[in-house]
Amino acid sequence: MESMYGEELEMVRETARAFLRRRVEPRLSELENGTDERFWHDAAEAGLLGVAIPEDEGGAGADPLALCVISEELGRSPAGATLGSCLNADMCTMFLIANGADAQKQAWFPGIVSGDVIQCMALTEAESGSDAASIRTTAKRDGDHYVINGAKTFISNGFKSHLMYVLAKTDTSKRGRGMSMFLVPADSPQITRRLIPTMGFPAGDTSEIFFDDVRVPVENRLGEEGEGMKMFLPVIALDRLQICARSLGAAEAAFRMTLEHTRNRKIFDQRLVDFQNTQFVLADMETDISLGRALMRDAISKFRAGTLSDADSSILKIFMPEMEFRVLDKCVQLWGGAGWMDEMTISRMFTAARVQRIYAGATELQKALLARRYMNADLEII
Ligand SMILES: Cc1cc2nc3c(=O)[nH]c(=O)nc-3n(C[C@H](O)[C@H](O)[C@H](O)COP(=O)(O)OP(=O)(O)OC[C@H]3O[C@@H](n4cnc5c(N)ncnc54)[C@H](O)[C@@H]3O)c2cc1C
Repeated sequence: MESMYGEELEMVRETARAFLRRRVEPRLSELENGTDERFWHDAAEAGLLGVAIPEDEGGAGADPLALCVISEELGRSPAGATLGSCLNADMCTMFLIANGADAQKQAWFPGIVSGDVIQCMALTEAESGSDAASIRTTAKRDGDHYVINGAKTFISNGFKSHLMYVLAKTDTSKRGRGMSMFLVPADSPQITRRLIPTMGFPAGDTSEIFFDDVRVPVENRLGEEGEGMKMFLPVIALDRLQICARSLGAAEAAFRMTLEHTRNRKIFDQRLVDFQNTQFVLADMETDISLGRALMRDAISKFRAGTLSDADSSILKIFMPEMEFRVLDKCVQLWGGAGWMDEMTISRMFTAARVQRIYAGATELQKALLARRYMNADLEII
């Protein structure tokens, strides 16, 4: 089948696949305790960090869709459920590429590419997840500094990151338009962090971060005051795409593993695959995955053409993680008790699939975004 990404990105896929197989999968039990320097340096050596940084600024200058290909491979690999979203934090680099001042880029790009600077995006707070514009963290100007106060939660790479992209209100009277983005070095005084135990993604480093009168120089503001949300919007489409690519990779891999399992497993003197129920369940899964692949292909081509609408990306974010979850749920059922054992890849993948429906805009939020348009009588939907 012709690649939806093209030849150049298929080479990125080969690199990501080789990195996961050779450098990560053999040391999965070590990574259960979190990523380490070796992991980040290996990822850097493979060229998987800061992939979209232009060549003349020290990066590989890859098409940003490389992030989707890497994410798809994370979904496909048995390592994905352990690593979680740690590599996907390269999405943060897109903010710096698009909005960074020269000095900011020069300060951070080399470390991002070398794996010495781990990044995290700190937007979500305990009282504001889906309703991101209601954040309470503030950044108050004090001479040539901003003073940040507040707490962020559920932040991927939060505990180990060196560079935090922090969204804070510079104008508390406004919602999205009162938000600004700051590059905050994690070793700034008055930052504390807490690792949160999670259902999955043991190396995802999901954390709370507390800012207690944290002073950052004005030069650390990314873009203009009040433009935090505006900077977010162009990146959201790519972020949704990469999460959906992960769903596709995971669903395809789980289907293959499960088909193989049903061919090998014998019960009641026949193979599991010989039962018609099994065949129908497999056929349902294959149909679901094929639909997902077609939707993904359409979205990638629209993204390239600059015609991917907000509605298109909401539809994709609704369908793909829900499809992944349906498939994984059916797979676990066909694996029987083994499918529920935490040491089994299929069990890990099932748990990993659960979160895909929640972060980066939960399914219900996407439905609400789509539905906003239904009240407009002039809207041509289909
Ligand atoms: C593993 C993991 C990693 C994460 N990484 C990051 C990160 O790196 N940086 C970061 O900033 N955040 C991160 N998040 C946070 C994530 O983006 C939020 O969890 C997500 O936005 C949902 O917000 P919430 O958890 O506050 O749920 P809530 O906003 O409380 O929503 C709860 C539920 O309400 C429903 N709902 C939502 N909107 C609507 C609606 N409009 N109508 C009806 N029902 C609705 C949905 O079912 C939703 O799941 C991460 C979360 C997880 C679990």
